Amino acid sequence: MKAIKNILLFQLILLVSCTSQNRKTEKNLAAEGSTSYSGPIIDMHCHAFDQMFFGGQDYTNPLTGKTYKASSTIDSLRIETLAKYKEHNVVKAMVSQGELWFDHAPEKIIIGNSHRYSVEELRERFKIGKLKVIGEVAPNYQGILPTDESLTQYFDLAVELDIPIGYHMFPGGPPGGAYFAYPRTRAFQGKPLQFEEILFDRPNLKIYIMHAAWPYLEDLKALMYAHPQIYVGLGAICWALPKKEFQSYVKGLVDAGFGKRIMFGTDQMMWVETISDGIEALNSADFLSVDQKADIFYNNAARFLELSEEETKRHKQE
Ligand SMILES: [Zn+2]
Repeated sequence: MKAIKNILLFQLILLVSCTSQNRKTEKNLAAEGSTSYSGPIIDMHCHAFDQMFFGGQDYTNPLTGKTYKASSTIDSLRIETLAKYKEHNVVKAMVSQGELWFDHAPEKIIIGNSHRYSVEELRERFKIGKLKVIGEVAPNYQGILPTDESLTQYFDLAVELDIPIGYHMFPGGPPGGAYFAYPRTRAFQGKPLQFEEILFDRPNLKIYIMHAAWPYLEDLKALMYAHPQIYVGLGAICWALPKKEFQSYVKGLVDAGFGKRIMFGTDQMMWVETISDGIEALNSADFLSVDQKADIFYNNAARFLELSEEETKRHKQE
């Protein structure tokens, strides 16, 4: 969910305030039981914005009935998001256009930028330290498939710079969005097996599929089995889907043996409560052990991002 217009139309939900996973809130932890995870979290999918585009639009999610309150300005969005991160012990976040927030939280923000920039521009940004991840890449809002020739250069750039690429797949935007917001999108465009040749041609590509290509679980399992280098992120689906459906999707991946290649993400856009909801949706999954939650919330992303031992140690001690 990258384009500003898309975001404007993708209102979300939810007034429900979720239980803090902050390790310091011991009262809450006791109430949640012993399988609750309270360690550091890496958010592999967030957005910063450089202009006022949303005008405080709240969003009611038609799938869950929850209403999410919008942050009112770009500054309040940053302040509220960073406060939520603090509350939930989110120690790193891949933020699309993260350069806008970087100075406010340099230890935390991993700067992402997408194919809206040319390859040359991205290379320049990389040189000055303003590009750590190519993402969120979401060309399907324009009806462009991952196999489109115009995208080849971006996959190649990720290999050249040896940095990850975060690729958006279905779902994108609200239910029925093709009818009023993204007329070029179609659900079939989210099918994950499209990546096969891209991966086969670039075995060293560091790539994660954002939104875990929901709902194509069978295709995704086939892709992850055939191509051990691919990871997935849980952005958006952790709060945009009903919790049971989200958890059942994660269970499908974990039961298939892919629990070490799933990374937590929020896809926070303008509704900061989605951060709490996304964390709660995963943390309340009773089929996961605390260790499995630790992998998804932190360890898998730390490995994927190649964080130093020193940094991971620090995160776990904080
Ligand atoms: Zn997004």
